[in-house]
Formats: sequence, C-alpha cells, structure tokens
Amino acid sequence: MNLTERDSQYLWHPYTQHKTASLPIAIKKGEGALLWDDNDKEYIDAIASWWVNPFGHSNKFIADAIYKQLTTLEHVLFGGFTHEPAVVLSEKLIEILPKNQKKIFFSDNGSTAVEVAIKVALQYFFNKGETRTTIIAFENAFHGDTFAAMAASGISFYTQAFQGMFIDVVRVPVPVQGKEQESFDALKKVIKNNNCAGFIFEPLVQGAAGMVMYEPNALDELIKICQDNNVLTIADEVMTGFGKTGKTFAIDYIKQKPDMMCLSKALTGGTIPMAITTFTQEIFEAFYDDDINKALFHGHTFTANPTGCAAALASLELLHTNEMQNDIARVNQCHLNFQEKIKSHPKVETTRVLGVIFALEIKKQNDESYYGTMRTKLYDFFIENGIIMRPVGNIVYILPPYIITNEQLQKVYQVIEQAIEMV
Ligand SMILES: *Cc1c(COP(=O)(O)O)cnc(C)c1O
Repeated sequence: MNLTERDSQYLWHPYTQHKTASLPIAIKKGEGALLWDDNDKEYIDAIASWWVNPFGHSNKFIADAIYKQLTTLEHVLFGGFTHEPAVVLSEKLIEILPKNQKKIFFSDNGSTAVEVAIKVALQYFFNKGETRTTIIAFENAFHGDTFAAMAASGISFYTQAFQGMFIDVVRVPVPVQGKEQESFDALKKVIKNNNCAGFIFEPLVQGAAGMVMYEPNALDELIKICQDNNVLTIADEVMTGFGKTGKTFAIDYIKQKPDMMCLSKALTGGTIPMAITTFTQEIFEAFYDDDINKALFHGHTFTANPTGCAAALASLELLHTNEMQNDIARVNQCHLNFQEKIKSHPKVETTRVLGVIFALEIKKQNDESYYGTMRTKLYDFFIENGIIMRPVGNIVYILPPYIITNEQLQKVYQVIEQAIEMV
C-alpha cells in the first residue's frame, strides 16, 4: 500500500467529506516555497500551508534553534515555573506590539488564542461586578473551531450543526468600501441594545471569508465607538500577523489600539503549534486581586512550550532582517503588477492586494458556494499544474511564503490566468 492508501485506513482529515473528496496527496519533502509528493511531483505552496509559513519549508535557521532548545530544555510546565525562551519572547513581542499591550498569555493554536480573549472579555466584566455577556463580531468572520471561537465565526458552513449552543454573539457588517457608515451605525445600535463585553475582528483582512479587505480608517472608527462605550476590542491577528499585510501587524496601519490581540500561525514560522493572546495592563489588573476567584483559570498542558518559544524567537529574528522585509515588498510589487494586468479581464469581477496577499474574484456563473463546483474545478486545476491553492468559492487568493522566487510567483500568476480561461 502507498501512503495515501494507508492514510485512508485510519485518518480523518480536517474540513473533509471523505465520501466525495479526492484522496490526499502525500508530501515527502519541502524546501523554500516548494513541496514534493511521493511521486516526486513538485508543487509551489502558494498559500504558505494555510498561512503559517513565511520563511519557507524546512528552514535551517529555525530548525537549528529548535534543535538547540530540544537538547537544552524541551519542555517544562508553566504553572509555577518559567524559562528563558518564554521570558525573552515576551520582551521581544512587547517591543513590537502596540504600545498599550503589556501582558502575554500562551496557548496552542489560533482558536485557543481567541477562546482566551473571549473568556477574558467576559470575565473582565464579571470580576468588576458588571453583567456584560454579548460578544460583537463581523459577518463572515472566521476565528477558529473551538466553541467560543466558532460562536464568533460567521461562516455558517462551519457552524450550522451547533446553532443554539453558542454564547451570545451579535454581528455587524464588514466596513468594505461603500458600507462603512452602515457598519458604524450597526455597531452603535448593537452596543445600545445589548450588554456588550467585547468586539472581535480580523483587522483589515478577513482570511477565511476570501481575503475580504477594508480600510484602516474604518477600523479606527469602529474601535473608537467601542472605546467610547467601554467595550473591549480584540484584534484577531492570527492570519494577518508577522508581516502578511506589509507591516508587522495589520493593526500597525491604524491609529487606535486594540485591548487584546490574538497571534498564532506564522508566530513560529510554521514549525511548532503555538499561540499567544496579549492584553493591556488594565485588563490584567481586573484579574489581579487577593481573591483567587478573580484569577484567569485557563491553561493548556503545553503552555509556553520552550521549543515553540525558541522557534518563535528565531522567526522574529528572520522577520526583521532587511532581506525578509525586502522580500515582503518584492512580493507586494509583483502582486500589484499582476493586478494591473488582470483586473480588466472580462471574467474578473474584482481584485485586491495588501502586503503579500493577493485575491481575485472570478465572475460568478451560478450561485457559487464556499465548496461549490467552481471551487472544486479551480482547486483541481491548480493541483494538476503544481500549485497549491485553496479557492474560496469563486475567489482565488495567493498568500505565499515571503521567500517565494519571482519565477515561482510568475508561474502562479500564469496558472491563475489559465484557470480563469478554463472555468
Ligand atoms: C486560522 C485562524 C484562526 C484559527 O486558528 P487555528 O490555529 O486553526 O485554530 C483564528 N483566527 C483567524 C483569523 C484565523 O485565520
């Protein structure tokens, strides 16, 4: 039996209807932006393996840091203990985070980072003796698959089986161009009519919705409305963090500062699962008390895993090299050039670019759903042509490792052009 056949015996894959999905591709090796399957077919990883890998596969610098940490202190519990990688990482992060962020809480993945933020928002008011139980989120948001994160997510595809079992979430429209005022008005109304604890949002780019983008000044306004009403703001930078938008964090484009931030995905350069939720001093102080019941009783076994911290430290170092910053600018320029070329194609509805993110909407033929027929046709075409991309309905997007070569990028663009003709 080959790997794919052995896989089918026991494995259950994420977001997969096993009855109708084609069999998974067995990948045996990765280097830079490339992956190879067990037949030695080469693929360009145009989505950085679900947005986690900025510096390329099998990165030696991060691998060396991990090895060194594994052979020094691989893990120690973080309840009652601490260690240098966690302390240094907290210091480095505080340097680059918005100036109001003062406390770092570790967990394991994007969903748990969000889970922690939402629990903190709710308990913050509980500790102060105020009843505030509603969370505000955007339409079509994606914040993860654990329960509170799922409640905040607005893509019904992922959540329909669990309706009625969620914490209270009220949605407001995303302030995409032309809908800004509608979004502001909706937020004010929601705050007026509910006891709102927090507002969670993907800053500037909604990844899973299909790289939907909105302007920094709209987000500034929304955060301001929350601040005026004492509603905590949570920037979910799980996708956007660490350079994807052209700045270290998407929030660096705006004037206001969020109360909390969620980080994961590229945090460890796509090597070790780890996540962080960050907080203001004021939030921390609502839990700081002689009363033990006011503490945050949340934790995960592998909290602040030293090996993960070492990977994150190596990743931060790479991110801030001139070379990597130049790569981000280079990929952005390539995207802008391609956008110029493709945007007036008769089959193209719209295009958008921010940082290393490029998205293109193909004109709809039918009612294209998230995992509809156009999506499957596109996905298969890209795979046939050695490009790993996961279109969202009629939306094709690229979010490559920053180190992707110009030649590889041109090949991705070329195959997208062919795909547009094909559908
Ligand atoms: C991927 C993602 C999550 C969930 O992260 P997981 O590690 O998959 O749990 C949360 N928020 C955003 C914005 C994401 O893109």
